[in-house]
Amino acid sequence: MEVVCRIADMHRRAEELRIHGKKIALVPTMGYLHNGHVSLMQIARDHADVVIVSLFVNPLQFGPHEDYARYPRDWDRDIAIMNSAGVDMVFAPSVEEMYPNGFQTTVTVSRLTKTLCGLSRPGHFEGVTTVVAKLFLCTKPHVAVFGEKDFQQLVVIRRMVHDLGFDIQIIPAPIVRESDGLAMSSRNTYLNPAERQAARCLSQSLFAAQKLFEEGQRNAATLIECARARIEAEPLARIDYIKICDATTLDEVTTITRDAVMPLAVYIGKARLIDNVVLRLP
Ligand code: AMP
Repeated sequence: MEVVCRIADMHRRAEELRIHGKKIALVPTMGYLHNGHVSLMQIARDHADVVIVSLFVNPLQFGPHEDYARYPRDWDRDIAIMNSAGVDMVFAPSVEEMYPNGFQTTVTVSRLTKTLCGLSRPGHFEGVTTVVAKLFLCTKPHVAVFGEKDFQQLVVIRRMVHDLGFDIQIIPAPIVRESDGLAMSSRNTYLNPAERQAARCLSQSLFAAQKLFEEGQRNAATLIECARARIEAEPLARIDYIKICDATTLDEVTTITRDAVMPLAVYIGKARLIDNVVLRLP
């Protein structure tokens, strides 16, 4: 597995691969890899000749009071995981490399980022779209894989790719969960044992609402109430938001008449966790 840290080297290697007719897949990550990330690598492998994983904890997408400094990092473990997942190349630039002195150019997706996580994390998605646009330019992929775990991010990236005319296919990857339903996340390491137990309420609340939906309930308020009740029964949990939105526009819906998504963000102790279920009409 090749490790590339400089943008100039990444440009050169990506260009060489393209000249040799290789199809490139990119999996952007912030590292501290888990099986959710590995599933993205496997999907990337199915779509390309060369799998590049980027590993970059992006300061631009963290707010001033968020967890950038304490975000978990483990280079050796990540390298071992990527090696055994058959990754071909790791792009791991430094912060100075990505954001040189005087950096002042960003990418903004305006409307889709004004809801859900965009409300509680101002500036977050601008950090995401800026770094992803830059990673696209560095690694020149034909396809890029993003997890449905970060559903709003996936929708925002699709919009950016469409609006800016990036010639890149965006492939969604289903959420990978622990055996008790908790969506895998690098941030789960913040949870102490009691909080880890409490965190089950996220997926349990979503699955309960999904079951009602599958039984025919189409009223968003009723489904949200069902999920809210399960989370409020958990003393260690504090709801940031629970909503039901159109799966493409992210506009809130009152009655589900098209495919929708039910995203939520919940604080468990200091950790802010997100999860969602897609409510697909039969
Ligand atoms: P992160 O390292 O948390 O920025 O995530 C990198 C990519 O992995 C993003 O596209 C995430 O949506 C995806 N991802 C993270 N956790 C999961 C999961 N449990 N299942 C599927 N994809 C995930």
